[in-house]
Amino acid sequence: MTSDPVHGFATHGFDAYGFDTLAIHAGQDPDPATGAVVPPIYQVSTYAQDGVGGLRTGLGVGYEYSRSGNPTRHALEECLRVLEGGARGLAFASGLAAEDTLVRTVCAPGDHVVIPDDAYGGTYRLFAQVLSRWGVAWSAASVTDPAAVRAAVRPETKLVWVETPTNPLLSIADIEALAAVAHQGDALLVVDNTFASPYLQQPLTHGADVVVHSTTKYLGGHSDVVGGALVAADAEVGERLAYHQNAMGAIAGPFDAWLTLRGIKTLGVRMDRHESNAQQVVELLTSHPQVAQVMYPGLDDHPGHAVARRQMRGFGGMVSFRVVGGEAAAVRVAESTNIFVLAESLGGVESLVEHPGRMTHASAAGSPLEVPGDLVRLSVGIESAVDLLADLRSALDRAPA
Ligand SMILES: *Cc1c(COP(=O)(O)O)cnc(C)c1O
Repeated sequence: MTSDPVHGFATHGFDAYGFDTLAIHAGQDPDPATGAVVPPIYQVSTYAQDGVGGLRTGLGVGYEYSRSGNPTRHALEECLRVLEGGARGLAFASGLAAEDTLVRTVCAPGDHVVIPDDAYGGTYRLFAQVLSRWGVAWSAASVTDPAAVRAAVRPETKLVWVETPTNPLLSIADIEALAAVAHQGDALLVVDNTFASPYLQQPLTHGADVVVHSTTKYLGGHSDVVGGALVAADAEVGERLAYHQNAMGAIAGPFDAWLTLRGIKTLGVRMDRHESNAQQVVELLTSHPQVAQVMYPGLDDHPGHAVARRQMRGFGGMVSFRVVGGEAAAVRVAESTNIFVLAESLGGVESLVEHPGRMTHASAAGSPLEVPGDLVRLSVGIESAVDLLADLRSALDRAPA
């Protein structure tokens, strides 16, 4: 048995179990009050105390107020901690809430961060429009090039921020090499693991200090909940993050935590299907005359293929491609599918298509993070592959330059 760092709940010593067993059981022992096999939705704000300043002992030990701790959220936090192999997991109201809490825990006004020149648009906006006004400076660097990241690091750099694979260009960052860059200075390496999920990649095992998730995506997996998470490798960093989670208040609610836990149980089987469908989509795209370039880390000629092979278990379900005929043709393709739903977000069971330049990454227009106008991004779902291929083929055939 390992003892839970927060409330003394015991979770079984899971180290010997496989990922899919952990996804279903970690943090989710039968409910101590009722024996319920699945953690109940503890829809409650406050908890009775035994005496003034004395928290209850016995069932549900240690809870006082649901901003600082809630059993349903806590089950999710423990599950995420185990899946990422960290010391502390924390669940937030959204991915961006998790990011904001992380930056304002680790940085103070006057500090600096290095962010990817190919980052999620909302992450870029958080640094460029919000945290810059709080006095945190940022530089963008290509995370595929550790020398460029090293050149961007300053004495006051506190975070090196990486996504891998990146959104939307599916570039691959070498986590081990970037951890070495960050640790040469005084910085922590943060990896946004949203695209890979812990099933395909565990950044802490490659030297990262903190993992960020938008659990809205693959972890939740059903496009029915918005959430975020942080997992820290180090218990002391985890403790400071937990302090700020409570002090800043951007927590995941009990129902959102419960939906996310339910999604996580099938993460492994979903990711396997996402990937096999994506591989068939990639085959179709690479041989289609209307497609100028396919970005997918599983392709042998992808510049990050060797690194992806080393640090990932698989290449995932996200595929981007450039359309012959430029922006107008790309927009036409994105608007011409039937099964692929034209929508932002990703990682759900249903396939989605979007035009990053005008949708998810519109806020990066005119910045170093601007994306090509002829780019289309697919989140390949787990529907029948034959239907997805027919849908894409007809959309491409309908959109000649
Ligand atoms: C969606 C996303 C985020 C932001 O998460 P929200 O849950 O939407 O706040 C951060 N990083 C990546 C890579 C994302 O795809």
